[in-house]
Amino acid sequence: MSCLCLCGFFGGAFMEKAFAYSLFPNDVLKSSNCRETKSRFSSEMANLRSLFSPRHMLVLSVALNVSLVLKIIQQRKNRREKVSGIYVEKPKDAQIAEESQIEASSIQNMHPTPSPMAVNGEDADDGRNVINLDHGDPTMYERYWQEMGDKTTVVIPGWQFTSYFSDAGNLCWFLEPELAKEIARLHKVVGNAITEGRYIVVGTGSSQLFQAALYAFTANNASEPFSVVSAAPYYSSYPAATDCLKSGLYKWGGDAHNFTKTGPYIELVTSPNNPDGFVRQSVVNRSGGILVHDLAYYWPQYTPITSAADYELMLFTVSKSTGHAGMRIGWALVKDPSIAEKMVKYIELSTIGVSKDSQLRAAKVLKVVSDSCGTAARPRENFFGYCHQLMAERWKLLREAVKQSGIFSLPEFEPGFCNFFQCLFEPLPAFAWLKCEDGIEDCESFLKSHNIWTRSGRHFGVSPSYVRVSMLDRDRTFGCFVKRLSQIRL
Ligand code: PMP
Repeated sequence: MSCLCLCGFFGGAFMEKAFAYSLFPNDVLKSSNCRETKSRFSSEMANLRSLFSPRHMLVLSVALNVSLVLKIIQQRKNRREKVSGIYVEKPKDAQIAEESQIEASSIQNMHPTPSPMAVNGEDADDGRNVINLDHGDPTMYERYWQEMGDKTTVVIPGWQFTSYFSDAGNLCWFLEPELAKEIARLHKVVGNAITEGRYIVVGTGSSQLFQAALYAFTANNASEPFSVVSAAPYYSSYPAATDCLKSGLYKWGGDAHNFTKTGPYIELVTSPNNPDGFVRQSVVNRSGGILVHDLAYYWPQYTPITSAADYELMLFTVSKSTGHAGMRIGWALVKDPSIAEKMVKYIELSTIGVSKDSQLRAAKVLKVVSDSCGTAARPRENFFGYCHQLMAERWKLLREAVKQSGIFSLPEFEPGFCNFFQCLFEPLPAFAWLKCEDGIEDCESFLKSHNIWTRSGRHFGVSPSYVRVSMLDRDRTFGCFVKRLSQIRL
């Protein structure tokens, strides 16, 4: 580019030479048997000279330079973003992400993915695009956060958060006080968990806290490993996350319904449940049993908030509450200080704390969510109201599609009274637990043959006639999915 700029500035004489060299490279002009070529070149140059007088060249050069200067300004602008009213250089990552988005969208254009309008038949879906709903990536939430603009923007100067410590006097010494404050405030606003008299332990996602909880309950010189169980269908990560280190402290024990082994155990209670969305209670119920409640989905966009949860150890995450899975922030509310202390020890051993940058960002997001529930906020800003409506629309479309196709079924839920919304509604889970009927035994493969990727029931400890489908993808993907599903026939 700078090269082109120079070309422009040097004008007529230089251009003439440059033109000549680019049309006829040096060695061609020099060669002795190129007389014919040379004379043709001379006459062509004469023609060109009459076309490009010095004035023409000057105008061309000015035009070239103006367009180049404008292009450079635009590129610089693209590399900057507005933060708190001033433009700052975008992080390299954002630039790369934007560039790869451009690339991704051009790849998509080769096989265009229909927009959500496809649901209404305005766009054609040739069925060749892969619709990947295997993971529970919560990209549905992007739209809300885009509409909120700069409200959750966080700027961190280079000198800040350089220390390992956040709150040296606290049991959880790496917990940012601002995050602790916003966690307690949000639970109070929503009414979904008791925080008074609890220790908050922050983790790199609730996945790390799950590991920390297993360690905390079992690192006590027991004579045999604890069995870790959960009622099927259980969250597909539990077995692998439990056994990945082949710990001598604990071991995956399978479906809690079939748990007959004697000895110490931990039961994981996921409520509402991933994958099927039902509200759950413990099923083993032996004296001395330890319960870990995974409440990742106990938020009013998914399920009625019937009471403030009050269990021994409760896990939450921003991944499913606000849709910020990439922030990797989760928290545990723990009754017993000795268990909380051991969880802190585990996190100390594995990652020496949790990213302060992420904690600060999470605190800001939680604050904006709590503020959005107040009377001062506009109704459309109400985070849970907005997301609840989105989930309700999606479940309505999905149920219609399933009905139209006639070869699938979905769970039916009892409505419950939600203290947060002060009304009765049916659960709207983050995953659809879809069953293939009509003798289709392997639902995952069946849907894969229609370019719809889901996760087989096998991963959740049940029959492959079930699949789990994410309900939290972007509008476009979800719209395409329900349209395609509705058209599937045997
Ligand atoms: N528990 C359950 C039940 C989940 O569904 C998930 C996310 N899929 C997690 C925990 C993990 O959450 P995080 O992203 O915070 O590690």
